Amino acid sequence: LLQLTRKLIEIRSVLLSVDQSDALKLPSIVVIGSQSSGKSSVLEAIVGHEFLPKGDNMVTRRPIELTLIHTPSNAASSSTTPAEYGVFPNLPGLGKISSFSTIQKTLTDLNLAVPPEMAVSDDPIHLQIHSPHVPDLTLIDLPGYIQISSMDQPEQLKDKINSLCDKYIREPNIILAVCAADVDLANSPALRASRRVDPLGTRTIGVITKMDLVKPENGVQILRGERYPLHLGYVGVVCKAPAAGVSGLLRNIRGGEANNVTNAVIRREEEFFGGENARLFSNKGRAVGEKRLLVGTDTLRRRLMDVLETSMSGSLNGITNAVQLELEEASYQFKVQYNDRRITAESYVAEAVDALKSKFKEYTTHFSKPAVRSKLKDMLDNRLMDILEQLYWNDPRTAELSKLAEDRKLAPEELDSYWKYKLETASSMLTKSGVGRDSTNLVADGLRGLIDNIAQAEPFTFHPDATTRIVDFSHAILRERMGMTADQVENCIKPYKYEVEVDDREWALGRERAEEKFGEEMGRAELKLGEIRKRVGGGRKLGSLIRHVEELERWEDETRRRRVSNLGRVVPEGDEADETHVDTPLDAYKYSPAQVIDGRHALLLSNRLTLLRLRQNALKSKRCRMGPDQSAFCPEAFLAVVADKLAYTSTMFINIELLEQFFYQFPREIDSRILYDLDRSEIAKFARENPKIRKHLDLQDRKDKLEQVMRSLQGLVNLQKEAQPAQSRR
Ligand code: GDP
Repeated sequence: LLQLTRKLIEIRSVLLSVDQSDALKLPSIVVIGSQSSGKSSVLEAIVGHEFLPKGDNMVTRRPIELTLIHTPSNAASSSTTPAEYGVFPNLPGLGKISSFSTIQKTLTDLNLAVPPEMAVSDDPIHLQIHSPHVPDLTLIDLPGYIQISSMDQPEQLKDKINSLCDKYIREPNIILAVCAADVDLANSPALRASRRVDPLGTRTIGVITKMDLVKPENGVQILRGERYPLHLGYVGVVCKAPAAGVSGLLRNIRGGEANNVTNAVIRREEEFFGGENARLFSNKGRAVGEKRLLVGTDTLRRRLMDVLETSMSGSLNGITNAVQLELEEASYQFKVQYNDRRITAESYVAEAVDALKSKFKEYTTHFSKPAVRSKLKDMLDNRLMDILEQLYWNDPRTAELSKLAEDRKLAPEELDSYWKYKLETASSMLTKSGVGRDSTNLVADGLRGLIDNIAQAEPFTFHPDATTRIVDFSHAILRERMGMTADQVENCIKPYKYEVEVDDREWALGRERAEEKFGEEMGRAELKLGEIRKRVGGGRKLGSLIRHVEELERWEDETRRRRVSNLGRVVPEGDEADETHVDTPLDAYKYSPAQVIDGRHALLLSNRLTLLRLRQNALKSKRCRMGPDQSAFCPEAFLAVVADKLAYTSTMFINIELLEQFFYQFPREIDSRILYDLDRSEIAKFARENPKIRKHLDLQDRKDKLEQVMRSLQGLVNLQKEAQPAQSRR
């Protein structure tokens, strides 16, 4: 009436998910027995279906925690839910399984998944069976005890099974000790184990199987339990499961009607206990006080329900107190550690995404137009210096250009076309150097760096999968836009490839910038020269080393010249050496090869410095200050203006084509690919990747479940209190 067992079974599963400590355990029925004692047959008779793994090779390797849930038959038939089905709570993907042979196959697979060298595992398989034909019960099936270790069953296996069973037969569980009638009870390992932990048999029920295999008189003798008394007594059954073929036949004939095993067993038992043996097994006419005989699977079921209910209601107060204590502890911890702040996986994901977006926004300031322009300018200025080096500084005539600039009377039109042509070449080298591609790449690299940065910072350090996603999709956005952007930029700078118009203001700025760049370049050269000077041991030593190198180079030039003029001449054999050789005027051993290299370097640097100084003076000269019509005299200023214009135009188009698009798309992609793309379980998984959040959620969950359990338990305690006076009145 109270449905106490049913409610406590529900509570039991909640508690199991909270933790496995013994204090929070509600009783369950544990089925033990030796191999082939008929354990499976008894369980299947109770459930009404063949569903346990079968086979010769020790098929039960893990405990099976079986929860039977009685469903009213009318409710089941009306809905889409099958009348009878099994659920593996830890394998939610499998859903409701209405085919018991599928359940059997799943159980077999789960058992066989235990590696052979482990043989048995402690890790239970949870299975719920919902059916109108089952009582509310929790049963745990354990691997059968083995008597002798055979070749393929190592000695430790016996110990392993024993200790696994020992773990389960502890209080408050009820022990169902299965013994075959045709085996002497003295040899039953199940009874032996149960006597160790429950000497009076107050929580052990004996089940005697295969009653049909012994003489009825002997069967009755066993059931009386005089040799090995059990307070809860023995129940005799005959439940040889029908052979597979017969069972299949039965299913066919009955059109798949449920409960075929039970029916078959009951018929068999009716025949056996009710037929010619009826007189022996009947309790009719037994004297008051004489022990009643318990026979039949149906009796067994009712007995189990009674015993479990009694045991459960006996545990009610104890478990209520234990849960109360646990709940207080959990509440205290929740207050202390989290100040009662509740979180959800969803809120965590939303926060993480918000943080990511705001960090992104913060970083986008690094990509303001002036910032991008200055980066591009640096890139183009470097390129400009390379071009100047290549075309001007390496050209001996450049000194001459500086002199020409000083000649006030020389008009720009009168300047040698050599210099005009050179300027055009320099300008087109700059404008045609792939500015579109390179500037786009530069900015895209910056964006990639930005994304890598924020996607790898906390809390994403805990979410490597999300990080990969973010990085992947942002790179994809960039890839998609880059080609177009580069083309667009290239297109927009196209006019500069033909003509660059410069006004006075631009000229003045360009000239200043060129001067500045020259200053930097000279600074660098001086620094290097200083290093060499220090290495060589001072200015005077460097001076003589440079003179030495100059001599050496002159001699090398001379040798080279002679060799060239001798080329093609027929030289009598043995004579070449004399013809081309020039005696070195130097002491070849005065300097080490490393010093000679330093000397060559220093010579180069000091020549470069002289030239740079010349050019810087030219830039500062009156002529270069005059304006853009003096470009050919002052190529550095002109090219600086070109670089500036390129940077400006590129920035404008990169901003429109790449940056604005990316800044618009990125936060939206984050939403659609992280926030909205995850389903509930993925969100939970994501949140739990963060250990801090996992701990928080676990404690919160534990507290919630304990509260829920506590409410149910209190309801039951109250009901029990109300019911008790009524019962005692009856
Ligand atoms: P388990 O290894 O303990 O699970 O035992 P099973 O339930 O598989 O039974 C072992 C063998 O005994 C099987 O061949 C069953 O058909 C048979 N068996 C089980 N119960 C009975 C019974 O009541 N009478 C007879 N004659 N055989 C039975």
